[in-house]
Amino acid sequence: MFFNKFLKTFFDFIFPIECVGCGKNGSFLCPGCSAKIKIIPVQTCHYCRKLRAFGKTCDQCLSKNRLDGLFILGPYDQPILKDAIHAWKHERVKEIGNILGLWAAKNLNSSLFQSSIIVPIPLHKQRQFDRGFNQSEQLSLILAQKFQIPAKTLLIKIKDTEPQSSLNREKRLLNIRGVFAPAKDAKLNGENIILIDDITTTGATMEEAAKTLKKSGAKSIFGLALAHGS
Ligand SMILES: [Zn+2]
Ligand SMILES: [Zn+2]
Repeated sequence: MFFNKFLKTFFDFIFPIECVGCGKNGSFLCPGCSAKIKIIPVQTCHYCRKLRAFGKTCDQCLSKNRLDGLFILGPYDQPILKDAIHAWKHERVKEIGNILGLWAAKNLNSSLFQSSIIVPIPLHKQRQFDRGFNQSEQLSLILAQKFQIPAKTLLIKIKDTEPQSSLNREKRLLNIRGVFAPAKDAKLNGENIILIDDITTTGATMEEAAKTLKKSGAKSIFGLALAHGS
């Protein structure tokens, strides 16, 4: 008992748990700081920026695109969210993903999830191995549990790509083409799917995933991302 306590103190000293927002000890993202993360006040059609509830794609844009909607929670350009996502993905502080997942659930309307299946945007096998986890899968499991709907791995990433954040818009669209395939046991027949990713910028990844899932038989595909990158 004493030894365990000693070990904990020792590890806290070597690897202190500090909030990415305020530096306070005890949590990687404290409740005070997560409450300060701003939410995008109005959602728009991802393609033409017309105001649309839940980021639903307008009829005109839907005739040319596969994604039925894209709901984005917060702008990435705010230090707390940016630092939290960075520490989560690049410093592999997996615990932050749990805090962000609960933050997202708190700020989402359950009607968005009605009769849907949650599907994470997959990582390439090698990248997932390097990171140790898929951040979108982690979020998916939290949201599925919170909203009582199934989460399924229906997509796999068959090509490793350069990170989208390092490319301009045109290159992002080319970079992502043909990178997804339906998972082996993915049998789709008219499902409503909510695709989960941590950050979206051009929405090219979501659009490509939607294309693959619709080809496999899904009825509607809605994207959901924690943050809007720039
Ligand atoms: Zn804090
Ligand atoms: Zn539109």
